[in-house]
Amino acid sequence: MVRTFTYSNPSGLPWVVQKFGGTSVGKFLDKIANEVIKEYVKQNRLVVVCSARSGKDKQTGTTNRLIRAANDALKPGSKEYLDIVAALLEDHLAVAVEMIHDDEIRQELEDDIRSDCDKLKSFLEAAQIINEISPRSKDIIIGVGEKLSCRIVAAVLQDRDVDAQFVSLENIIDRDFEKLDQEFYDYLAKKMAHAVEQCGNKVPVVTGFFGIVPGSLLTSVGRGYTDLCAALTAVGLTAEELQIWKEVDGIFTADPRKVKSARLLPIITPEEASELTYYGSEVIHPFTMEQVIRSHIPIRIKNVENPRGQGTIIFPTDIVSKDGTATPPHSPKVLAENGYSLDLSRKYPTAVTIKDHVIVLNVHSNRKSVSHGFFAKIFSTLDRYGVVVDLISTSEVHVSMALGEDNLDKDLDHVIADLRVVGRVDVIKDLAILSLVGKQMKNMVGIAGMMFSTLASAGVNIEMISQGSSEINISCVIDERSSITAMNVIHDQLLSKRGKLVLPSVKLALE
Ligand code: ASP
Ligand code: MG
Repeated sequence: MVRTFTYSNPSGLPWVVQKFGGTSVGKFLDKIANEVIKEYVKQNRLVVVCSARSGKDKQTGTTNRLIRAANDALKPGSKEYLDIVAALLEDHLAVAVEMIHDDEIRQELEDDIRSDCDKLKSFLEAAQIINEISPRSKDIIIGVGEKLSCRIVAAVLQDRDVDAQFVSLENIIDRDFEKLDQEFYDYLAKKMAHAVEQCGNKVPVVTGFFGIVPGSLLTSVGRGYTDLCAALTAVGLTAEELQIWKEVDGIFTADPRKVKSARLLPIITPEEASELTYYGSEVIHPFTMEQVIRSHIPIRIKNVENPRGQGTIIFPTDIVSKDGTATPPHSPKVLAENGYSLDLSRKYPTAVTIKDHVIVLNVHSNRKSVSHGFFAKIFSTLDRYGVVVDLISTSEVHVSMALGEDNLDKDLDHVIADLRVVGRVDVIKDLAILSLVGKQMKNMVGIAGMMFSTLASAGVNIEMISQGSSEINISCVIDERSSITAMNVIHDQLLSKRGKLVLPSVKLALE
């Protein structure tokens, strides 16, 4: 039957790429269809990119379940992976029944879901027989999550009268690449744009999973790869905007669940957003920022629960021209003319963030090797265990490193044993990293002093201090138990207009 739809992509208008995360697709699909896509498609050409569905949280989300299934298939004789596949099938079918009213659309969707799950089951059974899952096979397994999710989204949109088309990117890479470099990203961006353009006036619903990348998607890009997929699609189409839809209104001056007076930031630079991502606020996948910013595409974080909200724009305040030279920061007027508002004279840091569950490793040299040998041995040990260090502070004979507890898990004892070769090692647990982030902080003489005296006056003990050379981030390690107090006093005193942030007037003299 040839169906006609009320909503489809208008020709000739600029592209807007909308990325929806797993929890949004899992919980708010009706809203996404009715209040987001149907509204935006009236005035924009849309591309919808989705990740795998999540239920309550990421832990029980589809991708995590698929990873568990892959690991289980490697245990000889274990059949737990079959239960996981059966549960995934059941859950996705239940959504089809619940969400789709049209019999024909639902029937087709159910058949597709069954066929995807059957293939997954055979793939895992084969893996168990040969007792091997290569990183590539693992990628294929997790990719099923995005496929199932996007099939559902496309069908729900059709059911709600939007002419949508499911697009799988699993086979777009048809050349061998050695590594994940800019050449590869440029190639991907073109391929993704091509796949989208094939849809004509249908709204493409694209899998955030994009196939076999050099060194495997999970290891080279890591979790959250859908953000990167959306970004590259936006680049390939020279989209007007990349929208990342979440369940929060945007990026705040502090976590609004912990700091009552936290404010939504209308605009933030990519550097600031990256710092926040590295230090605990899950903003977006870090590779994403670089790709879209190179192409001057603004990223907007929006809330599916509040689609009319302004959201937060991530956009550079000094734009780099096509030949790569930096131009001076755009004036607020130029930004305003382009629909952006930014107070460049902002007299406050931009945001404060906390990363909990941190430990510090202190290594004191036994002075049996010269200083560079001491550092080299420490870093090669960390490299061997794949340990990611968040903060470092050093002297010639001493190194303190703060890192997320989870990145060591069971290896902690081994790492410590290996580090003991170079000196005495002690470990402090139950800590948190507090980071103050702000592009304007470069010009604020005295801000570090204010930050530490504010913490001291609230009785917060500081374990370690670090300020990056970019000066847009000052971080310190504190006791995890005082993290909420610390974030609140810093926010009250340094980020709110009522606060006591009065910097020495020497600042003006230096300018
Ligand atoms: N579903 C994948 C993950 O959980 C990809 C993504 O969400 O971007 O990592
Ligand atoms: Mg994500």
